[in-house]
Amino acid sequence: KRENEYIKDLETRVAEFDVKLARPTFFTDLPISDGTLKGLRESAFVKMTDIQKDSMPVSLKGNDVLASAKTGSGKTLAFLIPIIEKLYREKWTEFDGLGALVISPTRELAMQIYEVLVKIGRHASFSAGLVIGGKDVKFELDRMSKINILIGTPGRILHHMDQAVGLNTSNLQVLVLDEADRCLDMGFKKTLDAIVSNLPPTRQTLLFSATQSQSVSDLARLSLTDYKTVGDVNSL
Ligand code: ADP
Ligand code: MG
Repeated sequence: KRENEYIKDLETRVAEFDVKLARPTFFTDLPISDGTLKGLRESAFVKMTDIQKDSMPVSLKGNDVLASAKTGSGKTLAFLIPIIEKLYREKWTEFDGLGALVISPTRELAMQIYEVLVKIGRHASFSAGLVIGGKDVKFELDRMSKINILIGTPGRILHHMDQAVGLNTSNLQVLVLDEADRCLDMGFKKTLDAIVSNLPPTRQTLLFSATQSQSVSDLARLSLTDYKTVGDVNSL
């Protein structure tokens, strides 16, 4: 009905979005849903940061991105908005299961991402979950099957994937590897490889890093497909 038409129109705007014609400045310049724009406005996010301007034209179209930009440059919104929009356009509901997975190196960073998601995603209808150390596993498992966007630390996410019940990744649309450089510095390489190898290859993958290094490039080659590199690319 009306929502279907609205989504069709949005899909057309995404497909026709061409940054070569006009580099976006405001979030309102992006082909994103009214609900997300409202959530952003209510959170006082108006103008985009450079990494948001550079990455979202690519990520909103569903392409893989390797983005590097220093700490504090606004990488969180740069991956949360494409996730929310993808699931919105796909009309994702709790019955569709896990649609997006965000991997963050520490509990504190995972919690911050979750808080931003709850804020800007308040007008969206899907659910979000957080899996970090120190929470009761059974409690997590009860709710796991209904979570649409899951944020967590590498060890906890892999733990849930290894459980017989709970985390079903077969429908996953978007994977985000946040603070990839830090994940690697903290010794999570094997855990990340194990998680990635369990995911459907058709997914979109967004890799965000504060710094560039050979190990980040190696991870990108293993986990991304036909990706575009944006941000501070001089050290590549
Ligand atoms: P990073 O992950 O790159 O270190 P964050 O996503 O944590 O950066 O953002 C750093 C700070 O900048 C946060 O306080 C966030 O609220 C703020 N921020 C991000 N994007 C914008 C924006 N477009 N306008 C204003 N503030 C922003
Ligand atoms: Mg960050």
